[in-house]
Amino acid sequence: MLPDFLRYEERGGSSAQAEIFYGARVHALDNIRALISRLQPEAICDQCIVERLGLAPDVVVEQAVRQLSGTCGIERRRGTCALCESEKIVSRQKS
Ligand SMILES: [Zn+2]
Repeated sequence: MLPDFLRYEERGGSSAQAEIFYGARVHALDNIRALISRLQPEAICDQCIVERLGLAPDVVVEQAVRQLSGTCGIERRRGTCALCESEKIVSRQKS
């Protein structure tokens, strides 16, 4: 599978646009990781991540967190979100 920025070019964006697009995504990943890490040991749902960080609608939080969960000790499971108190899939930093 192609990296996001290449797929963006495929859809007709210029390479400068693609770079900005890719940069924004990497930045979003950093912010998501920082937020989850600050909340530890509490968990947070995707919806609250989007609201807290004011993420662009094209940042797919579920994908981003899945990517993080492979590398940063973040786990996804059903649980209660610390912010909205809903029972749903939440992300949490493992201790
Ligand atoms: Zn929530």
